[in-house]
Amino acid sequence: MNYQDKVAVVTGGASGIGREICLYMAQKGATVIIADNDLDRAWGVAEEIVEMGSICEVEDVDVSIREDVERLVWTVKEGFGKIDLMINNAGIGIDGEFRDMSLDHWKRILDINLWGVIYGTYYVYPLMIEQGFGQIVNVSSLAGLMPGGLMTGYTASKHAVVGLTLGLRAEAEQYGIKVNALCPGFIETPLHDKTPKVSGYLNLAENQRDKTKYPTADKCVRQMMRGIEKDRAIIVSPLRQKIYWWLYRLNPGLVTYGWRKVIETMKSRPD
Ligand code: NAD
Repeated sequence: MNYQDKVAVVTGGASGIGREICLYMAQKGATVIIADNDLDRAWGVAEEIVEMGSICEVEDVDVSIREDVERLVWTVKEGFGKIDLMINNAGIGIDGEFRDMSLDHWKRILDINLWGVIYGTYYVYPLMIEQGFGQIVNVSSLAGLMPGGLMTGYTASKHAVVGLTLGLRAEAEQYGIKVNALCPGFIETPLHDKTPKVSGYLNLAENQRDKTKYPTADKCVRQMMRGIEKDRAIIVSPLRQKIYWWLYRLNPGLVTYGWRKVIETMKSRPD
């Protein structure tokens, strides 16, 4: 894909996967708009991009607030005349058993992970129809394709994002719009340290994920972007974690069994 003269909006572009996507596109000459509610980090990424010689703007956006996302799309359209790529990436995690999740936890995760993507798609879609081109990339997760253990709210939000994306993909083609679901597996980013653990036993040191086993976002960005550039319906990254999805399709019961064993082991450890 030729990124010169492209205008790309990345929600959650201040950190982790979104940050690497911003840097990748900027390096190739795209104008990048970082839409995030963490402005300090967003300006840090913007500085890196400007140093590369590309154009970058920061928009203070909470993706769970409809008016913020509407204003974002309107501002970019006014400023740059078009949006080529809308990457609905902002997201949060909440770990723990369903029984320990409050309705406020449910509301928060769906407001950001699902409604953030709905708003991002809803407001950009008419503009892209008018343009006759555009690409919407919705960031789901491997937990959008199969159950993630001890993260029912997250899994529900990310399954919904896959459903929304694949449904829209079929409709959008007639207007010249591409729609893709990016489904990362476990990638080491700041997300995991920020994720609240609502079940007490998940806070035990022995029950923490070994982050060193997983790749960082900069290691995966090329493969993710190749999938986006090739307009793949579903892009799983890192590639080797695709094996879990294959296993799940082959034998869904195996994954449920695996998670049950993990939960048993975690709960058997003394406090
Ligand atoms: P991250 O925490 O490093 O980055 C997320 C960004 O989203 C941050 O800059 C944060 O400020 C922003 N954000 C959060 N809530 C927001 C809101 N309400 N409005 C605007 N911005 C908001 O996390 P990441 O790992 O880079 O995650 C990016 C996306 O990838 C998320 O949707 C996440 O669910 C998904 N994902 C991550 C992993 C992983 O292992 N890291 C795996 C699968 C899917």
